[in-house]
Amino acid sequence: MNRRHLLQWLVLAAMLGLFYGLPWLRWRGAALLLFDIEARHIRFFGLDLRMDAVLPMLWLALAALAALCLVTSLYGRLWCAYACPQTVLTRLHRALQRITTLNGLAGARIEPVLRHALWAAIALWTGITFVGYFSPVEGLVTGLPALALGRWEAFWIAFYAFATWANVLFLHERVCTYLCPYSRVQPWLTDAFTPSIHYDARRGEPRGARPAGGGSVMQRARGLLDPVTARDYVFRAAHPASAGPRPTFSDAHLGDCTDCDACLLACPIGLDIRNGSTGSCIECSACVDACDDTMARSGFPAGLILRTSSARIEQRAPVTLRTRPLLFGTLTLLFLALAMAGLLAAG
Ligand code: SF4
Ligand code: SF4
Repeated sequence: MNRRHLLQWLVLAAMLGLFYGLPWLRWRGAALLLFDIEARHIRFFGLDLRMDAVLPMLWLALAALAALCLVTSLYGRLWCAYACPQTVLTRLHRALQRITTLNGLAGARIEPVLRHALWAAIALWTGITFVGYFSPVEGLVTGLPALALGRWEAFWIAFYAFATWANVLFLHERVCTYLCPYSRVQPWLTDAFTPSIHYDARRGEPRGARPAGGGSVMQRARGLLDPVTARDYVFRAAHPASAGPRPTFSDAHLGDCTDCDACLLACPIGLDIRNGSTGSCIECSACVDACDDTMARSGFPAGLILRTSSARIEQRAPVTLRTRPLLFGTLTLLFLALAMAGLLAAG
């Protein structure tokens, strides 16, 4: 397990702990966070707000949104890669799948039953937890087995349980590609200096299979191509219909990409990252792991597919002032100040 994998598991544990734990936390005998619709008040980390004090909550939500945009503009889609509920639940389900197969010991009939039963239990607990942010969670937990829940509570628990169950089992990364609005606005949040997952075409092109033992481009002194030539090779490989058949290169001229397609096969949304980074990439790094394995087998250094910015690959000089981080940073501070002022006045 490398550092990135460890971080993914730590964030997953933190996000799950936060989501499932928050409705149970108490402060001076009252819920720490509860949007109590029936009693028409909000308990917010020690503050007891009336429902009409909704404006500071709105400012707070906007501050969180602006902060997410700020982090995205500076560091890329860290939210998608580590913390998004869709990512966390999909990752949890895949871990469950690995556990229920018991390393291949569980029979083909037992594994799906076990996995579906466990996932249904997690989905139900997710539904209860979600409604627990709006109605005291202890009442839900005792009311459910006694069939003593209100109509709306029962409806929303069933709704969120079903959504969690079906979302992860049937939609998984399709949510990111087709449904998620955050995914759609990525191009407006980032610039050439924002890190994302890239294939280093300067090192990898021209791609091609070759016998093992030839050494990487650095080891055999071919070195990196200039960015324009590298882009040209990528275009020719991606558009054979317009660029014509690819020439055959001697092993000495080949780049480090062995054209094994492992990155393409590993991508949960079917992207070929070698064709360039796109707004659809959720930065899951599956292609990075797959390519690193190929590099290790070929005796090449890791990092042909890596997390970096397009500006860095194109060797552009860094800039000190970037419009997007500046704008989102200012908006975050502004919304935060408005939210604090509103909360203090309402509390
Ligand atoms: S596998 Fe690579 S290209 Fe595909 S979504 Fe994940 S990071 Fe992006
Ligand atoms: S996994 Fe690496 S070596 Fe294999 S095709 Fe993708 S970029 Fe090339």
